[in-house]
Amino acid sequence: MDQTIATHAVTTSATAPAPPTKPPAIPGPPSGLRAGHPGGHPGAIPGAGSVRPTGYVFGRAPMMLYWEMTRSCGLVCRHCRAEANAERHPDELTTAEGEALLDRVLGFGDPMPHVVFTGGDPLRRPDLPDLVRAARARGIGASLAPAATPELTRDALLRLKEAGVQNISLSLDGSNAVRHDGFRGVEGTFDLTVKAAGWAQEAGLPVQLNTLVTNETLDDLPAIFDLCPSLGIMRWSLFFLISVGRGTDLQEISPAESEKLMAWLLEIGKTAPFQVKTTEATHYRRIAIRTMHDRGMTDEEIAQTSIGRGFGIRDGNGIMFINFDGDIYPSGFLPVAAGNVRRDDIVDVYRNSPLFRSLRDVASFKGRCGRCEYNALCGGSRARAFTWTGDPLETDPLCPYVPPAADDVAAAAIAAAATAARAG
Ligand code: SF4
Repeated sequence: MDQTIATHAVTTSATAPAPPTKPPAIPGPPSGLRAGHPGGHPGAIPGAGSVRPTGYVFGRAPMMLYWEMTRSCGLVCRHCRAEANAERHPDELTTAEGEALLDRVLGFGDPMPHVVFTGGDPLRRPDLPDLVRAARARGIGASLAPAATPELTRDALLRLKEAGVQNISLSLDGSNAVRHDGFRGVEGTFDLTVKAAGWAQEAGLPVQLNTLVTNETLDDLPAIFDLCPSLGIMRWSLFFLISVGRGTDLQEISPAESEKLMAWLLEIGKTAPFQVKTTEATHYRRIAIRTMHDRGMTDEEIAQTSIGRGFGIRDGNGIMFINFDGDIYPSGFLPVAAGNVRRDDIVDVYRNSPLFRSLRDVASFKGRCGRCEYNALCGGSRARAFTWTGDPLETDPLCPYVPPAADDVAAAAIAAAATAARAG
């Protein structure tokens, strides 16, 4: 990555405090720049309000429902959210309970959420093809997030494609075997992942490649990006570490590094032959809006981009996660149970539980995310806010942006009105 790429305007570390409790402390952003445009315009960001969705954008149904079918997995990844291990847990949902879950997905009505079969390693469940077929028979879209183990074979992918899987995700956290296998804990994983991307292409299964962003992978991202075209992927998704599960041993990048990285992602996204997106780093959208406006794009044009279509999606708002034991979370990285599918209706929990409702109501957000003019489009990572503060409604500490204070906005409006009056 070109480290000389300019960041967008951020403000001083004095007004963007590091999270209060949890080490390691995230360093503050570079100082000297003010919120809003460089030069100190404190007012509303042009267009941020006009492309803002209103109300509960995903109040009716999530777009994606992740089902952690099992925590069993042959890998021992250093950042594993699920702290997966070899054995299957006796509390996993059974095949019949899985089918009942799919029945309840129908309760959301059209358009229905797309189901992602994930783990652990979903290939550890012998009933996976049957459950994929059950989803497709109900008209539900199906994606697969397998682990790169010897169970991931060309034949397995062909069988699952035949069962109805529409696309898969693969993980690549290093540009070579030494770096990737070091992360994944098993030798040969890099080679298998590269092979699996080829088998998926052969089977006609589009691939999303997931890459973890930590202070250990940051310098390797350009090399991974260079590798992507040879893998024939449809999307590169950069997952910004949330310190849960085994991921607590790793370190997040700093807010300043995050801003530079996002600016680079926007740059490469202009010409990359695949989509580039971020996960648990929704402030990418703030930077994207600013950049696209600077390029002269209208709000309507921005809304049509792949980034624009993702506006507003975050944990509990467009996303829902079913834990291996049936607990219902806003996402896998925000492990706060709002119910359990064995006793609660997922539609009711998603639409009406206080936790899910508060995650969709930006008026309930606190700190900088609470008063940010981008919060309906971005909203920050609720999972990271929870991890660092214990409160999922707090500020996302990875974002250095400091929204203008209300009195600054009022002063700017008065100044603009006075200037207009003088000009008139
Ligand atoms: S302050 Fe919060 S809502 Fe605003 S851009 Fe940053 S993460 Fe998003």
